[in-house]
Amino acid sequence: MIKINENYQKLQASYLFTTISRKVEAYAKAHPDKKIIRLGIGDVTLPLSRTVVEAFHRGVDEMARAETFKGYGPEQGYAFLREAIAAHDFQARGAQIGAHEIFVSDGSKCDTGNFQELFAQDLRIGIPDPVYPVYVDTNVMAGRTGSAVDGRYEGLTYLEGNHANGFVPSPPDFPLDLVYLCFPNNPTGAVATRAQLQAWVDWALKHKALILFDAAYSAFVRDPAIPLSIFELEGARKCAVEFRSFSKTAGFTGTRCAYTVIPDSVLAWDEAGNSHKLLDLWNRRHSTKFNGVSYPVQVAAASIYTAEGKKEVQELTDYYMANAKLIRDKMSSLGLEVTGGQNGPYVWVKAGKDSWETFDTILEKAQVVVTPGSGFGTCGQGYIRISAFNHREKVLEALARLETALR
Ligand SMILES: *Cc1c(COP(=O)(O)O)cnc(C)c1O
Repeated sequence: MIKINENYQKLQASYLFTTISRKVEAYAKAHPDKKIIRLGIGDVTLPLSRTVVEAFHRGVDEMARAETFKGYGPEQGYAFLREAIAAHDFQARGAQIGAHEIFVSDGSKCDTGNFQELFAQDLRIGIPDPVYPVYVDTNVMAGRTGSAVDGRYEGLTYLEGNHANGFVPSPPDFPLDLVYLCFPNNPTGAVATRAQLQAWVDWALKHKALILFDAAYSAFVRDPAIPLSIFELEGARKCAVEFRSFSKTAGFTGTRCAYTVIPDSVLAWDEAGNSHKLLDLWNRRHSTKFNGVSYPVQVAAASIYTAEGKKEVQELTDYYMANAKLIRDKMSSLGLEVTGGQNGPYVWVKAGKDSWETFDTILEKAQVVVTPGSGFGTCGQGYIRISAFNHREKVLEALARLETALR
């Protein structure tokens, strides 16, 4: 008899996005004349830029000719892309990262989800609350938690984000083995300062812990004092792994390309106390279970590091950040507590006592879809996440309606 992985039964069904769609569908059916605007999604809306599309075409044309055709490529990614990433995203900012420390993949969701496979079962894991749900669920599936009680899994340590700490939890005064951090943050849009990140790095070094740093939104940082990479900090080459994606940076959510950075100085230990390079373990895992990103996609991704490509990424992200500013300013002007929207494409708003109640009110009165903050963790209760990923006219119209609905 074929049996299931019992850990899957512990998963709290992720009702968040299915409940949202169900509610929105029901409302649309009952009010066919009303135009609904969606600011709930974490997906980009602008198309691929010209330089990226041209490069993508070039890559496809190469696949069409015998002389330039390519079969399986290196699992870790082509050297031209890994070298461009190392030079432009790291070395240019003073972070000492080499091309051999970069692993190209088809997404940061997979990378952040799969990375836990390298570690022991009995890890002490720190998870921020609110949080991108992938970090928690993949550890539940792997059997590293007990059951969920009141929305929290037994065996995990929750690092609380709240108004008082600006949604940037500090390191705890006790040891953990693995901590997930995401800045600029999804869902709150908060960023960690250099000092705040340095405190995490120092804490990790002290406890021989590992930080998994998700920097999917680094292209949206506008404050020059905010680090874009954890490797801009002293000591991070010994205790951190970073995940980056072309998804939000360059509109690749449907094209698929991302990368993971593992310095060759990051170690992890076995039962006998011997150290192992994490890079070697991930290389073994990656080349066993992954066969590389499509060649045309890697050519397209590398094009964002040309002068034209950089300009276009700046324009794309500026467009969304201008939306974010409009959203942030409007919510502040209504007297609401607001986080994010200055260095990340999400605005996190305290708009009532109960996130779902606020969601319903906004849908009924303004026909605008937002994301209930409680879906990202217990600390999200009372908040909503408003996404800047939409067309300007829609954002403006949504804000005009929200002003009437929330006043
Ligand atoms: C969108 C997003 C990613 C990127 O996921 P991809 O699989 O690369 O599209 C990673 N982390 C967070 C927090 C995100 O919101």
